[in-house]
Amino acid sequence: MGKERKNILKRSLRGKMLLLAVLPVVFLAILLGFVSTRSFTSAMLGEVKNDMANQCHMIADIYDRMYPGAFNLEVLDESSYNLYKGQVDITNACQIIDSIHDAYNVEVSIFRSDLCVVTTMKDASGDRLTLTKASPVVVSGVLETGEEQFYSDVILNGEKYFAYFMPIPSQNGEEIFGMYAIYRLASDVHALVLHSVLPVILLCLLATIVIGLISIRYSQKIVGHLQQIQRFMRALSGGKFDVELSPQVLALEDELGDLAKSGQSMQRSLRLLVEYDALTGLYNRRLGDRKLKRAAKRAADYGMDYCVGICDIDFFKKVNDTYGHEAGDAVLKDVARVLKRNMTGKQLTVARWGGEEFLLLFENCKLPAAYKVLQQIHDQIHQTTVEHEGQTIRVTMSMGLVQADRNASEDAMLAAADALLYDCKEHGRDQIQVKDMSGK
Ligand code: GH3
Ligand code: MG
Ligand code: MG
Repeated sequence: MGKERKNILKRSLRGKMLLLAVLPVVFLAILLGFVSTRSFTSAMLGEVKNDMANQCHMIADIYDRMYPGAFNLEVLDESSYNLYKGQVDITNACQIIDSIHDAYNVEVSIFRSDLCVVTTMKDASGDRLTLTKASPVVVSGVLETGEEQFYSDVILNGEKYFAYFMPIPSQNGEEIFGMYAIYRLASDVHALVLHSVLPVILLCLLATIVIGLISIRYSQKIVGHLQQIQRFMRALSGGKFDVELSPQVLALEDELGDLAKSGQSMQRSLRLLVEYDALTGLYNRRLGDRKLKRAAKRAADYGMDYCVGICDIDFFKKVNDTYGHEAGDAVLKDVARVLKRNMTGKQLTVARWGGEEFLLLFENCKLPAAYKVLQQIHDQIHQTTVEHEGQTIRVTMSMGLVQADRNASEDAMLAAADALLYDCKEHGRDQIQVKDMSGK
């Protein structure tokens, strides 16, 4: 694994969770595989040893039944001899050991002391490999102690064998005549063990993969949720408040769900602070400006009409001067209430533009309809009386309204509405001036 990739794994939560999910499972699988393979192998070897011991006893039994009496070796010269069992010369009667060899795929030998006198083992030309000698380990382990022994590392003819030796008592039963030996090719036993252990290993591997996949999926799901919350927070800190968390994340009942819900209420609080005017509860200039820009772009892109209005309370300074700043605030709130009441629906927007000045935006709307709304507002302001500390305050408003030119900038349209407002102020206030700038 490259150093860079390693660092990414360590640095990213996804990487950490991946390591956390996979490492224990792999470790557990290796441990489980190792322990079960070992115990399986030793159980199998125990069984092999028992089989070989039984075969040894069976051979001895058959010889005793077929040829009652003890073994005896008559040496003729250095390389020739006769082997007797009871009265029968069995030197070349190898049917018993040959049939065991064929039936169990084992080699069988009979030793006189440490010298092999009968065997199923043959050399390359097919001659039986008699007159070989047992190793000193076998001599001391079997012949000197008179006990049966099992060895797992006997080398014969260049090959590794498992071997079982069983001592043969002499005629008087006080000495050891020799021994029976059963050999089984180690590679055969290993293949047998592997054959039995393989399903266990495969099962461990499969379980590891399944558990690994489940934990990866689960941890990646958690990381996916966390990443979604992370993107959401990033958007908030970048001043974007229109991002939303998915319902799945919000529906989580764990700590992640709590985090998501806290993020959502933080979004609401921030939105209130950043996008709304604290005194009147209307959109503030920042959001009003954004909405205006968006409306202008939409109008240009889709060829929709829109109108922009600016209205301002007349002689508001006098209100403050006469009744006090708090009274002024109360007037602002009541005026905002009237504006809000009339500017309902998705396509109508009202924002506090500054001081006692308000922006009115009419999307997908032509001048007559917008003018109608403005007249309503104008009338209702007339009828509004603000009660403050026993005093009744009345105000009027001046309003400038344009139907925008879809190809002009929103600033130019705003300036045009502002010019109309100025005109109102110049010509007696408490009035509405309109202009169609759409050029139709
Ligand atoms: P005009 O008819 O020409 O608009 O005259 P005006 O007095 O309304 O306008 P001017 O710009 O001279 O005064 C606006 C005043 O509004 C001055 C400022 O103190 C007051 N004002 C601005 N914001 C607030 C506010 O949040 N609360 C209160 N009480 N007064 C405010
Ligand atoms: Mg004013
Ligand atoms: Mg003003």
